[in-house]
Amino acid sequence: MDKIKMTTPLVEMDGDEMTRVLWQWIKDILITPFVELKTEYYDLGLKKREETKDRITVESAEATKKYGVAVKCATITPNAARVEEYGLSEMWKSPNGTIRAILDGTVFRTPILVKGITPYIPTWTKPITIARHAYGDVYKNTEMRVQGGGKAELVWTDKNGNETRQLIHEFTGDGVIQGMHNRDDSITGFAHACFKYALDRKQDLWFATKDTISKKYDHRFKDIFAELYENEYKAKFEAAGIEYFYTLIDDAVARVIRSNGGYIWACKNYDGDVMSDMVSTAYGSLAMMTSVLVSPTGVYEFEAAHGTVQRHYYKHLKGEETSTNSVATIFAWSGALRKRGELDGIPALCDYADKLEAATIGTIEDGIMTGDLYLLSSLENKQKVSSKVFLEEIGKRLSAAMQ
Ligand code: NAP
Ligand code: MG
Repeated sequence: MDKIKMTTPLVEMDGDEMTRVLWQWIKDILITPFVELKTEYYDLGLKKREETKDRITVESAEATKKYGVAVKCATITPNAARVEEYGLSEMWKSPNGTIRAILDGTVFRTPILVKGITPYIPTWTKPITIARHAYGDVYKNTEMRVQGGGKAELVWTDKNGNETRQLIHEFTGDGVIQGMHNRDDSITGFAHACFKYALDRKQDLWFATKDTISKKYDHRFKDIFAELYENEYKAKFEAAGIEYFYTLIDDAVARVIRSNGGYIWACKNYDGDVMSDMVSTAYGSLAMMTSVLVSPTGVYEFEAAHGTVQRHYYKHLKGEETSTNSVATIFAWSGALRKRGELDGIPALCDYADKLEAATIGTIEDGIMTGDLYLLSSLENKQKVSSKVFLEEIGKRLSAAMQ
């Protein structure tokens, strides 16, 4: 069998600990036997970030801008313990944060559904994708405790020094106040990313805020989405047979619970923080969750939603067998390779990505799974296997499908 050829390199961002081990095994067992893999390799492992004073992270994001598609392994975000463990000269920032800031992207998270693992909400038979706006609101707030009575005002000083004041509250006793903001350009970027992703996935897009109460702030979000939709996306959505749907956040929550899934739910920063934990918990496990960062210009970075699985790595270092779930990392690769195939017009690469995903799901549905899923699965013939055996079992099914 001839290996599938690629034309443009994928930006490959290697990472840390157990996921770095899985990364290499995935390539060896599931990718390079079938694809003449072409990547531009960036080692975002903590050792290399230290050696390069974290320049490597910035370079990998710049390369992603240039080529359009990246696949990223989970990486350590250093804390005090890591500074000691790796002898770091600085507590380097989260690579995901650095990359997100450079690409100005929105993160879309989607659960991977398999037979035998029923969501806590059993009517959710299709995945719900959460898109969280990652800028501003309460995450960039300024707040104060005030005491003994007094007047709180909102003061805006324009470029010419003119002040506009609005009363927040006349306090007669103690209390709290909070100021927050968002920017039109950030909301617009978020909206573009959501509309583009919905078109890409051919799924409806839902968006909700509390604009009945927040008549200026939340209303601005609603208006920006609505204007952009009318001017740039409506015709494309109609041609794709999908819908953009705006409602109040309370109504959205009720509809989400009653729904069967199968759409993208765009959330303001706080709503996305809260709702993504609810949705991922209801579907089962972070190891069964894909995550893709999409920039407003349509650049994609695929990753897993979980961390580097440190506890398993220390077992691995001691020579013990682990049973670490590689599904989210496999789907990061398949997502990135499929996107590369779409952009470069290589149907064989898209077909391979579909088969890799089907083989992965098929393995679990045949009852062969890692320990985390073994605990959740209701299949009767289920069997817990090691990290490596799980990949080899996927490999067998993939080989058969590729014949
Ligand atoms: P974690 O790697 O997500 O793992 C926490 C626990 O969740 C594991 O100990 C394991 O539970 C379970 N788990 C997570 N992923 C799993 C998988 N694929 N297969 C099986 N079990 C899985 O979080 P952490 O251990 O708190 O963080 C480790 C490092 O990851 C940190 O340095 C953090 O900075 C980094 N991190 C990176 C990213 C990213 O790059 N996207 C995201 C989050 C965290 P059991 O131990 O019970 O088996
Ligand atoms: Mg949270």
